[in-house]
Amino acid sequence: MSAYWKVILDYDGTLTAEEEQVTALADKSLDTLARDILRVPRSRLEEDYRIAREALLAAPHQHWWEVNGLIASYCDEGAFILNTSTLQAMLRGNPDYLRAVTRAFPSAEYDPVVDCTNYLFHRHTAELAPCFRPETRAVLAELMAHPSFVPLVLTNSLGDKVQRNLSTLGLGELVILGDTRQYEMDPHWGQWFSHPRWGRIQILPVDELHQVDLRRPAYYRALRGEMSSGAGLVVVADTLSLPGALPLVMGIPFVLLRTPYTPPWCLDFVAAHPLGHVLDELAGLPCLLTTLCA
Ligand SMILES: [Mg+2]
Repeated sequence: MSAYWKVILDYDGTLTAEEEQVTALADKSLDTLARDILRVPRSRLEEDYRIAREALLAAPHQHWWEVNGLIASYCDEGAFILNTSTLQAMLRGNPDYLRAVTRAFPSAEYDPVVDCTNYLFHRHTAELAPCFRPETRAVLAELMAHPSFVPLVLTNSLGDKVQRNLSTLGLGELVILGDTRQYEMDPHWGQWFSHPRWGRIQILPVDELHQVDLRRPAYYRALRGEMSSGAGLVVVADTLSLPGALPLVMGIPFVLLRTPYTPPWCLDFVAAHPLGHVLDELAGLPCLLTTLCA
C-alpha cells in the first residue's frame, strides 16, 4: 500500500468548463485562419466549418484527430477535440486550404494541418479567460490539504497558461505536468501491453466501432516518471483516448468525469473496466478517491 497517492488531474474539460469556452475558441481560430493563414472571407470559412462539423457528427466513429497516421482521439470525445477535428477535416478537405496551410507551416513537426491546429489551440486557449468548473477550487483545496493526496495538473496545453490560470484560484503552488502530448503518436514504437483478454496489444479494443491506439510514448514516459517515486497513481480526466486508455492498460486507476459532451461509448467502457470509475460531478472526487485509495 502506498503512503500517498499522486492524483493526476487533467486540466481542460476536467478542472475547466470546456463546453462553455469552445465557441470562443472556434471563433478566434476562424478569425486567424481567415485573416492570416487562408486569406478567405470569414463568412465562407464559417460555413465550411459548419458543414465539416455536421459531417463529423453524422458518423463520429469515422472521424478522428489523426497524428502520424494513427488515431489520437475520436472527434466526439470532447468539446475542444471536436473543434480540433473539425478544423482538421475542413483544412484537409479543401486543396486550396491545404496548400495555404502547407505554405504557412513549411517545417512542420507533425504535419502542416496538425501543426496549424496545435498553433491555433495554444495561441487562442491562452487568450481565453479561465473558466473553472464551480467545484474546482474546493476540490483542489481539499486534495491539497489531504495528507494522502498530491494533486498534479496534467495538460496538453503549455504549462505557463495553466499556471497563470490556476494562480487566480489563490491556492498556492500546484505541480503542472505541462505539454504532456498525449496526442504524440508513434507508429514505430516498440512498447507492447499485456491485456487479460486480448494478450499482447498496442491497440485497445473498446467496442465494435471504437478502439484506442496506445502508441503514445511521450505520455507513457510522463506516467512512468510519476510512478517511479513509489507513490500510488490515479488519473482523472474528461476524455478517454487521450488521457485515459494508457493508464488503464498500465494498471493505473482512471476516473472519467461525465460532462455534457461525454459520449456513452466512453462512459460504458470506463464503467465496465475493473480499474475504471465514472464520476458524475467533480465535487464527488475527494470522496471517490478516499474509497479508491483506502
Ligand atoms: Mg480534457
